[in-house]
This record gives sequence, C-alpha cells and structure tokens, in this order.
Amino acid sequence: MELRNVIIIGSGPAGHTAAIYASRAGLNPLMIEGHEPGGQLTTTTDVENFPGFPEGVLGPELMEKMKKQSQRFGTEYITDFVTDVDLSKRPFKLKTQSGKEFEAKTLIISTGASAKYLGLSNEKELIGKGVSACATCDGFFYRNKIVHVVGGGDTALEEANFLTRFAAKVYLIHRRDQFRASKPMIKRTMENPKIEVVWNTEVKEILFNKDGLTGLKVYNNVTKETTDRTTDGFFLGIGHEPNTKFLKGQLELNNEGYIITKNGHPDTSIMGVFACGDVQDHYYRQAISAAGSGCEAAIRAERFLEENH
Ligand code: NAP
Repeated sequence: MELRNVIIIGSGPAGHTAAIYASRAGLNPLMIEGHEPGGQLTTTTDVENFPGFPEGVLGPELMEKMKKQSQRFGTEYITDFVTDVDLSKRPFKLKTQSGKEFEAKTLIISTGASAKYLGLSNEKELIGKGVSACATCDGFFYRNKIVHVVGGGDTALEEANFLTRFAAKVYLIHRRDQFRASKPMIKRTMENPKIEVVWNTEVKEILFNKDGLTGLKVYNNVTKETTDRTTDGFFLGIGHEPNTKFLKGQLELNNEGYIITKNGHPDTSIMGVFACGDVQDHYYRQAISAAGSGCEAAIRAERFLEENH
C-alpha cells in the first residue's frame, strides 16, 4: 500500500488551493479528484467574482488553470472516487472505487457540497442557460429580467431577496402554504415589493428552446390546475447536501452532515485530518472562500507533519 504525506480528496477550488500550497511545500500531495473533477464551478459559465480576472473567467477554465498550477509544483492526480476511509489510527487508510488502496499521514477533505435538484429532465443540461443553483454567482446576468426561485427555506428566500437587486420581478414558488425559513427572512421577503409568492405550487417541467430556458410548467396542488409560466431564469433554492457519506461514523459531522471544524481552523475531530471548502461551510459557499480555506488546510497539514513526523 502506498504511503503519502498528504492526500487531498476532492478537486474544487478548496482542494486545488490546498494542492498548490502542499506541493510548493514539497509534500508531493496526491489528489483524488472524485466523480466531478473541478467541482461545482465546472457546471457554471461566467465567474465574475473571483479576484484576478477583471473580464471574468469561465468556471471550467478557472478550474483547469488551478489544476495546471498545482501540477507545476508536483501534485499527482487520479480520477477516482473514495468509497471507504479508516481514520481510527494513523496512517489513515483509504479505498477507492477502482479498488486502489492508499495510506496517508495527513488527509485534506474538500469534497464540497452538491446543490439539490428537483430531478426534472433537462434541469442539469440547462445550467448556465437559464437554470442556476447559485443566485450569488448568476444573479448579475438577470438585470431587469423575470426570474423564478423554488423552495421555502432560508436558502430560497435569501436567493429571492438577493435577486431583487437585479431582476425586475422575482416569483418564489413554494409547494406548501407556509415557509420553513426563519421569521426575519420571511418578514424581509413578504415586505419586498419585487417578490411575489406562488403558494402550493410544484414545478413539473422546464420549458426551453434551442437558446435555453423559456418557462416552467407548474401544478397548483390546491386548485389542481396546471399552467405555464414564462421566465428568463430559474433558481433552485431547495438546499445543499455535503458530500460526506463516506465519512459517517469516522469524523464529527453536524446534523446536516457538514464536517465540524474547530476554533476557526480547518482542524476536524481527528488530528491530522483537515477539512476545507463547502464540505465544512454551509454559510458562504463561494469559490474564493473555499480557496482561502484550502490554503489554511494545507498550512495546517504541513505544520502537523513537521511536529509529528
Ligand atoms: P431547508 O431548510 O431544508 O429548506 C428546503 C426547502 O426546499 C423547503 O422549503 C422544502 O419544502 C423545499 N424543497 C425541498 N425539496 C423540494 C422539492 N423536491 N420540491 C420542492 N420544494 C422542495 O434548506 P435550506 O433553505 O438550504 O436551509 C438549510 C439550513 O441552512 C437551514 O438550517 C437554514 O436555516 C440554513 N440557512 C441559513 C441562511 C441564513 O441564515 N442566512 C441561509 C441559507 C440557509 P418544504 O418546506 O415543503 O419541506
């Protein structure tokens, strides 16, 4: 079994930044990229809020650049998926889907979180063509347009409020007649003149043409009516799921499955295991904040190795 100084699991901005720092520190890290190399940014188009790109940059291009940067300093990559870990003692043990086994003196977990989707056909194909799971990333492109947001929790209401900065009108579609969101968020939403709530309504189909999204087919579960609604944008706000299934029982997770980090550091409940990016952050969820925490995780891993090996 191969023993590594640092294994990084997950290849979004957090993982790549950790890889740049760890490889420049001479730790020869191995990154196991996961099912979606590059992470959530590979499913977006223009990224305009990542510093250093005054004209914006395409999400996949940004991730490709990050990978090249860490490869330059010696990071090794494998496109595989970690299925099992044993964190009960050091070195930690990992198994992958293709049957490979590794040992690691330190582990950096940057497996991210995935936006939940409704499961409608063409939903994922239309991402970047009218469908989005991130208002902060894509809201800017909907200036003076009509958009719909789905969901009734804090994420959906926050997205709806944020989108009123740009959009002419925001319709908030919720499947029940009561929100799950917090009271202040509900108050803010109900008082926003640009937001109109569409209660008791389920999105059944996404309507589109060759240029992208055109509208939604919705079903009112009280009146039992099905109608078509025209829209320029459709934002999913039904929550996120951290990619931590393979860690259950091994590491302290919160009730929603996010890794718990300690004292403002990327340290987890197990010494030598560090977490960065969305897998431990349900609040900011930005490429730049993920990258920052990846840098911190690599520095902590480097210091841990110095002190313990
Ligand atoms: P959430 O509280 O689980 O809410 C998800 C919402 O999406 C619910 O209203 C749910 O409807 C709806 N939904 C789920 N699946 C659906 C489906 N298939 N079709 C239609 N609607 C569906 O998730 P969240 O809003 O992401 O919040 C997660 C946690 O993060 C919460 O604790 C929240 O308070 C916190 N958070 C806080 C802030 C903030 O403080 N600024 C911002 C974002 C999130 P039902 O209500 O009918 O189940």
